[in-house]
Amino acid sequence: MSEAARAPVVITGASSGIGAALATSFSESGHPVILLARRLDRLEALELPNALCLKVDVTDLVAFKAAVQAGEEAFGPIGTMINNAGLMQLSTLQDQDPAEWKAMLDVNVLGVLNGCQIAIDSMSARRTGTIINVSSVAGRKTFPNHVAYVGTKFAVHAMSENLREEVAADNIRVSVVAPGAVETELLGHTNSAEVIAGYEKWKDSIGGALDPASVVAAVRFVHDQPQSVCIREVVLANTLQSA
Ligand code: NDP
Repeated sequence: MSEAARAPVVITGASSGIGAALATSFSESGHPVILLARRLDRLEALELPNALCLKVDVTDLVAFKAAVQAGEEAFGPIGTMINNAGLMQLSTLQDQDPAEWKAMLDVNVLGVLNGCQIAIDSMSARRTGTIINVSSVAGRKTFPNHVAYVGTKFAVHAMSENLREEVAADNIRVSVVAPGAVETELLGHTNSAEVIAGYEKWKDSIGGALDPASVVAAVRFVHDQPQSVCIREVVLANTLQSA
């Protein structure tokens, strides 16, 4: 295995869903993994070898940076940052508590900016590295009850593309992986039982959501290319998901 193939991978939001599946995949292929989330017990329960599990809120730049530095002290310079942590709280704008807009913007936008800056600080002098931002089909098109959430995910697409342009000359890849509905804990943060019921009904109508494994396969496709190949964006969804 080459040095690059063994480089440490930072995964935010590794305590559940897509992030936990990514952590397992990268660990199984021999990468040290630096796993960040607020629920430390869930990170540790993965019981992955060569893993540094740290309780970090991605909105806290200082704590996030210190965690990545601790990971680099343990395993060496990071090769990849996967900004996966996210929050979805669905509602019509009229009915939504503005605190929910702020929470989503903080995690989905500022958390991603934090992760990108930390990664670039480490990667640019070494002139290599990969940043993969997990966005959403809701970063490409709109859906009912998604006003604030689509705002955050459209931002992830825009920021990632602009950042890609900014750091391309430093040989740093910036990519977006944007899934449609995936079966995870994400919907559980929505506070309206009615909105949750409507979303579940829609999911049933398309034969269920993607398995996180399908998103992992897309991320691995992006990641496992040679450093000279940047897959800029992957959008994937259940075939029956027309929206
Ligand atoms: P989960 O709710 O299962 O996972 C979200 C993860 O984000 C958790 O590990 C959670 O950890 C972490 N997280 C949330 N807030 C913070 C924070 N402030 N600091 C650190 N970690 C945080 O959902 P998914 O696996 O589905 O979500 C992963 C990504 O995929 C998100 O960006 C989401 O928007 C995106 N996505 C998901 C889709 C879906 O249908 N599920 C569709 C399209 C995109 P903890 O609570 O322990 O901090």
